[in-house]
Amino acid sequence: MAINRKQFLKNLTLGAGAVAMASCNPEKGAIKNTAIDTTKKYTWKMVTTWPGNFPVIGEACHIFAKEINEMSAGQMTIKVYGGGELIPALEVFDAVSGGAAEIGHGASYYWAGKSPAAQFFTSVPFGMNAQQVNAWMYYGGGLELWREVYAKFGLLPLPGGNTGVQMGGWFNREINTIEDFKGLKMRMPGLGGKVLEKVGGTAVLSAASEIYTNLERGVIDASEWIGPHHDFAMGFQEIAKYYYAPGWQEPGSNLEFIFNKRAFEALPKNLQTIMEVAATKSNILVLSEFEAKNNEALQKIIADKRTEVRIFSPEILSTLKEKSIETLEEIAKGDPISAKVYEAYKTFQKNIGAWAVYSEKLYYDRMI
Ligand code: CA
Repeated sequence: MAINRKQFLKNLTLGAGAVAMASCNPEKGAIKNTAIDTTKKYTWKMVTTWPGNFPVIGEACHIFAKEINEMSAGQMTIKVYGGGELIPALEVFDAVSGGAAEIGHGASYYWAGKSPAAQFFTSVPFGMNAQQVNAWMYYGGGLELWREVYAKFGLLPLPGGNTGVQMGGWFNREINTIEDFKGLKMRMPGLGGKVLEKVGGTAVLSAASEIYTNLERGVIDASEWIGPHHDFAMGFQEIAKYYYAPGWQEPGSNLEFIFNKRAFEALPKNLQTIMEVAATKSNILVLSEFEAKNNEALQKIIADKRTEVRIFSPEILSTLKEKSIETLEEIAKGDPISAKVYEAYKTFQKNIGAWAVYSEKLYYDRMI
């Protein structure tokens, strides 16, 4: 279809004029504002799956609360609780769903037991990176689907930060071929853990506080965690022989703010907008902080020399990718809403990947 350039330019001019008119109309603004009750004050609870002041992510929750208080001129006060302070970390979903707290922060893949489809909104093995996930969320229908999945639990989700590409994990065994995963006991939650089992490994769940000791004592042979910034702080370089890249299991984990839907919808419009703006800011800042700080820690790990930093071979990654697709298809087969989400995710990934061939991928291949 031919594009009518003149009409397009004309519409642009008309559009700009309309915006200018609206912003120059004080009457209109005043009417809108009278509808908002700015005298009613709110005090909300926010429960999180992270330890109290967990670097980057936990800190971002406190910034979120503080800035909402400032933007609303004190109309909204949010008290943030780390995991285990008000309720156990893995009860965040139920607490917000039931209204014991109005806001939660965590990651949707913790809630696979509530709905298997939830896992697609954090990260998918060999799935999209952070930038692509954000494109899917904000402009590709991802957020609408996420809201559909959470609606029956009375929850309203919003993207709440992204880890970027994670690391493949810490190993006390060399991984030279896919056979080396056989009998490997590895701390690996979520979809990645299911893929690990398909190549003969055993996925173990360890709480954050137990990973170091389990790895040191040989209870587990390997563990993935996040990326260098957090991993270094955990001290894994003191006890693991190898640190493998890339984090095929979590190529861009999207975190979440969840709101009790009824409480959110009862808020005046100004506070709803403030919440959305603060969540979007948090989404950008968390990813930016990860990206800014990971290399510094990675270089310390390399310089430390107790751990050897390695990259999985293309053959290993290709088999893991095959097994990942099998895993995702099995989940989709057993659950209609997962099938719908998987289909949408897959289609968006294919399309944005076709663009990446001419943009991100080409740039990285030729320019870096
Ligand atoms: Ca991880």
